[in-house]
Amino acid sequence: MTTMPKKLTANSLEYHWLPFTTNRDFKQEPRLMVKAEGCYYWNHRGDKLVDGSSGLFNVAAGHGRKEIADAVSKQLRELDYSPHFQVACPLSFELARRVAQLTPAGLDYVFFTNSGSESIDTAMKIALAYHRARNEGQRLRFVSRERAYHGVNFGGTSLSGMVRNRETFGATIPGVVHMRHTWSPETRFVRGQPETGAELADDLQRFVDLYGASSIAACFVEPIAGSTGVLVPPKGYLDRLRAICDKHGILLVFDEVICGFGRTGKAFGAQAFGVTPDMMTLAKALTNGAQPMGAVVASTKVYETIVDAAPEHAIELFHGYTYSAHPAACAAGLATMDIYEKEGLFDRAAELSPYFLDQMFALSDLPVITDIRGYGMLAAFDMAPAGKPGVRGYELMKQLFAAGLHLKFTGDCGIVAPPLVAEKKQIDEIIGHLRQALAKF
Ligand code: PLP
Repeated sequence: MTTMPKKLTANSLEYHWLPFTTNRDFKQEPRLMVKAEGCYYWNHRGDKLVDGSSGLFNVAAGHGRKEIADAVSKQLRELDYSPHFQVACPLSFELARRVAQLTPAGLDYVFFTNSGSESIDTAMKIALAYHRARNEGQRLRFVSRERAYHGVNFGGTSLSGMVRNRETFGATIPGVVHMRHTWSPETRFVRGQPETGAELADDLQRFVDLYGASSIAACFVEPIAGSTGVLVPPKGYLDRLRAICDKHGILLVFDEVICGFGRTGKAFGAQAFGVTPDMMTLAKALTNGAQPMGAVVASTKVYETIVDAAPEHAIELFHGYTYSAHPAACAAGLATMDIYEKEGLFDRAAELSPYFLDQMFALSDLPVITDIRGYGMLAAFDMAPAGKPGVRGYELMKQLFAAGLHLKFTGDCGIVAPPLVAEKKQIDEIIGHLRQALAKF
């Protein structure tokens, strides 16, 4: 029997199943981006939109950076692909060095991945391998937090604390327990780090008391929980987690996928909040969004424990991806690091932050707003829900897109993260769009 060729209509929007999207509604009323430059997008109708979320928190140095495009193009012509299993390309070593220059002292070993989700699953496996190398292979449990977002692979889905991301997939990995999140009504409209809430870190101690420290491999937290609405850590909270981890031999992992590369006004959340983890997960702004790439940065202790435990001539970590350290991604990463350095973008973020947060918090007078939070160049506002959660947020997102603002929403929470190259003018445009649209709710 011969199979008839499928008749797929040219230019149909039907066949791409979009991620985290209301596919049916989208296809009735598509929102297509066709061009980007600096802090702006242009949609398929030719309308200009200010980018209020740096793409998806990754385009820190602004869109259309010629230096990155040139580096990627040159690299693809010179060496389009090299495996990184038993051979390598020189660029990845240089990029690892540049990244390690920015991370806190002692966090020096960089394992490349292709996304934040892969970084999280990689860090979970490194944590397990570390304990096994120390003959503590019974440490299989992971601690994370409610309202955490650690990507969408099975490890990250299990660590995440967002019900909609978990409930559909029932079969998340066993042995993950969640601390309480750090939002409370007391912290509403607090700018920067709340004074109260450090004691919520003692949830980790409670798990130690309940399950035994010897069963816990690692504790994962985002320094600022980003995707669930910018929950800034209370003063002393991360230090307290660090102390409990140290006391009980638990690895502390900071998921810096959003916080990393200047979003907090420092290179990483670790430096912004003065706490050094044992591992950091990175992605997004590592390549300014121009190539898919992530990384796990491990401490010398973690790296050496795993590597030294393996017999000589044996592979030390049975993990890696075909596209780990892809040459084009390395080229994009190096060009991005050059831009961050030359343009001093992390300092620039620190300088622009007070203005940005002033403008964000000025929206507090709008009746529909129930909370605003922010730190560095990252802020969020909550809208009072109307009907089912998320309906209002979705409506606002569509209205803003039509009016000229691209913004990332999680339910009824809008997350604002302008590119770090933004001027006050673009901040004003973002806030202007928000005020105008929110005032109608
Ligand atoms: N971790 C955090 C903190 C994130 O915000 C994200 C994505 O937003 C991820 C992990 C997953 O990254 P990716 O979408 O690149 O897999």
